[in-house]
Amino acid sequence: MKALLLEEYRKLTITDMPQPKVGEHDVLVQIKACGICGSDIHGFDGSSGRRVPPLIMGHEAAGVVAEIGEAVTKTKEGDRVTFDSMVSCGQCFYCQRSEMNLCDNRRVLGVSCEDYRQHGCFAEYAVVPEHIIYPMPDNLPFEHAAMIEPVSVAVHAAKRTPISKGDTAAVIGVGMIGLLVVQALKAAGCSKVIAVDLADEKLKLAQELGADLCINPKTHDTVKSIQEATEGRGVDVTMEVVGATPTVKSAIEGTRKGGHVTLVGNLAPEVDFPLQSVVTRELTIFGSCASNGEYPECIDLLARGIIQVDPLISAKDTLEKGAEWFERLYTAESGLMKVILQPDK
Ligand SMILES: [Zn+2]
Ligand SMILES: [Zn+2]
Repeated sequence: MKALLLEEYRKLTITDMPQPKVGEHDVLVQIKACGICGSDIHGFDGSSGRRVPPLIMGHEAAGVVAEIGEAVTKTKEGDRVTFDSMVSCGQCFYCQRSEMNLCDNRRVLGVSCEDYRQHGCFAEYAVVPEHIIYPMPDNLPFEHAAMIEPVSVAVHAAKRTPISKGDTAAVIGVGMIGLLVVQALKAAGCSKVIAVDLADEKLKLAQELGADLCINPKTHDTVKSIQEATEGRGVDVTMEVVGATPTVKSAIEGTRKGGHVTLVGNLAPEVDFPLQSVVTRELTIFGSCASNGEYPECIDLLARGIIQVDPLISAKDTLEKGAEWFERLYTAESGLMKVILQPDK
């Protein structure tokens, strides 16, 4: 089969690879669409240490079932499917508690590190275990289904946060995930969602996707503007989708007394934390990582158009053009968001 192989760091080549073998509980999927994730870009040059070559990357995918293992009952040949980016073990302490995103033995598709190598989906075919497969409706295009993983990250973050109907919310950082968080908060019943970002074009997109108020900290004081929009109190909930000291501070200071802050971004491993503000104003802080089985709900939100991903897709192209797109994303070409590769084109 044809695959886009990371031969060495920053070198992607179209290679002929053996088609993966289908185990008893496995499903062979003919890949129709696979998104390039930010984590692929960080792995591509070796900086994250999680894409050790040789490796087929790609974990945001959808396709058609081409073959099933003997024991597979959940799906059949010809089904349109998408699947989780993460393979949980089903055995550990966390899996037993249904906290699969916290699995001690989790493997991510298209990742190789010290502990494992799991080839991913920038290829004509990929093999995945039956338990992470989800059927998708006929009206959902493959390239939208390939966005399920980032959508699920946003929906999971909203679910981690106690939200009551009519709550006001702020989203600090409206990149790919932040723009999906804006929509997930609206879907969860927030009445007013405030988007904060340094890039005006991202704020414009946030507004198109449902944000009620946009703040650019370059021209407006974030906390003051949030307070002005909430009768001086601050918002009920804030989602921090950057992960740096100034944005964590804004998230905390912009939230009302007794409110909730969910931390999704983690750009910096450590930040300065406004301890007294959290303690004396009784804030609750949550961390949110990946997603935990929210896929069926996300497929439904996409199929009903409640969460829109089309405005976030910058390009769809062939596997052959993959290397070029990786370079363009790597150099952070402005305005580029999600690029989807289509191995069957
Ligand atoms: Zn991803
Ligand atoms: Zn586990």
